[in-house]
Amino acid sequence: CGIVGYIGRREVAPLLLEGLQRLEYRGYDSAGIAVTSPKTGTLKTVKAKGRVRDLEAKVPARFKGTTGIAHTRWATHGAPSDVNAHPHLDAEGKVAVVHNGIIDNAGDLRRKLEADGVEFLSETDTEVLVHLIARSQAEKLEDKVRETVRLIEGTYGIAVLHADFPDRIVVARNGSPVVLGIGEKEMFVASDIAALVAHTRQIVTLDDGEMATLKADDFRTYTTEGTRTTAEPTTVEWEA
Ligand code: GLU
Repeated sequence: CGIVGYIGRREVAPLLLEGLQRLEYRGYDSAGIAVTSPKTGTLKTVKAKGRVRDLEAKVPARFKGTTGIAHTRWATHGAPSDVNAHPHLDAEGKVAVVHNGIIDNAGDLRRKLEADGVEFLSETDTEVLVHLIARSQAEKLEDKVRETVRLIEGTYGIAVLHADFPDRIVVARNGSPVVLGIGEKEMFVASDIAALVAHTRQIVTLDDGEMATLKADDFRTYTTEGTRTTAEPTTVEWEA
């Protein structure tokens, strides 16, 4: 349903919770957040069924990080619950994914992964993404995600964090909106510019079949085939 992400120098949890609140008008049944930092290189996550304020109440005081992704979920596969809330993580806790949309071939992909010994923690279609990315042999995070989305039939807007690549967020879009917010030594991503305009008016809207890598002071866009695309930020007008 809703996605917000940030990479920069500020404490990320309050920024993401505020962003989620700006997406609440869309409706949702649960929410969650994952954070990391270039210093720690580990992922921390909190998820809660219910409102963003229920999530906020569960976030520990020391939930530090300068990079993170967050989600409000509108359940399509699996009941609303803490476990089915996004972000979803792999067994090692290295990969975190938030996803908007519906993966039509999730059943097939899940059966293949389970036959290979992968244990699923949730009932969501989204979780296949996490395991496919975690198991990819590609070296770069971008290529792990590219390989994965090329196996997917359905709609997605996704944002991916990986503990081994704490300097970036990788996002992809097919049928679910993804917009980048370009800041000063900080970058934002969201499913809706409503979550960004408090921070920046410099926006890049991804096309279907397009992906992006966000770093604190740089971004680049490319197709799921790996070809670079040009993305000039446009300035949005917005009545606050
Ligand atoms: N299909 C996913 C799920 O049920 C994502 C739903 C959404 O867009 O919030 O978890």
